[in-house]
Amino acid sequence: MAKILIIEDEQAIQRMIEYDLSQIGYEVDSALDGFEGYKKASTKHYDIVLLDLMLPNMDGMEICKKLREEGNDVYIIMLTALDDEYNVIKGFDVGADDYIKKPFSPRELLARIKAGLRRQGLMKNDDILYYNDLKLVQSSYEVYRNDEKIDLTLKEFELLLYLLKNKGKALSRDQLLTNLWGFSYDGDSRVVDVHIFKLRDKIDPDANHIKTVRGIGYKLV
Ligand code: CA
Repeated sequence: MAKILIIEDEQAIQRMIEYDLSQIGYEVDSALDGFEGYKKASTKHYDIVLLDLMLPNMDGMEICKKLREEGNDVYIIMLTALDDEYNVIKGFDVGADDYIKKPFSPRELLARIKAGLRRQGLMKNDDILYYNDLKLVQSSYEVYRNDEKIDLTLKEFELLLYLLKNKGKALSRDQLLTNLWGFSYDGDSRVVDVHIFKLRDKIDPDANHIKTVRGIGYKLV
């Protein structure tokens, strides 16, 4: 399940969010102080950070800016009571991914969180996975782009799914062979290259997403 960090100094709001999200099954961590929140976000892994703006010791803008400067690309949703364009623009400026205006309903917040997870391809509990403009339906082995079905063979589908589930990792040809063709396969490892080329041709003709890792294999970015 997704891990979410709440950085919010108003305890009533923090408790409400924490309660709602843990009821659904998300793993929730909280900080009531800006500096403490920054430390948590910079040292632990979270899928989403909910970040209040006005915080003691370090404000939300500063936290967001510092995390980005450190190369931390965690998905940040700003919680803002300040209903003005300036703060929204400034928030995006310092690297926030999304924002939600207080007061918000639990449903609204959940929708933003789900959108954030989808954008990262992290809706693991769902049958449906998203990657950029692609939609993968695991149970039916189908891939769509803007509701248009892309015709993949079973092996191409499995390859894409495997790459997506291991997004960001360099995967060797041997690893792909073992996981997708099985130990018993004793053919040429170039079968992997052939399938990658076919897959690229169908979904990624410019090879912007399925990258070749020289001397190793491939990785989805
Ligand atoms: Ca506050």
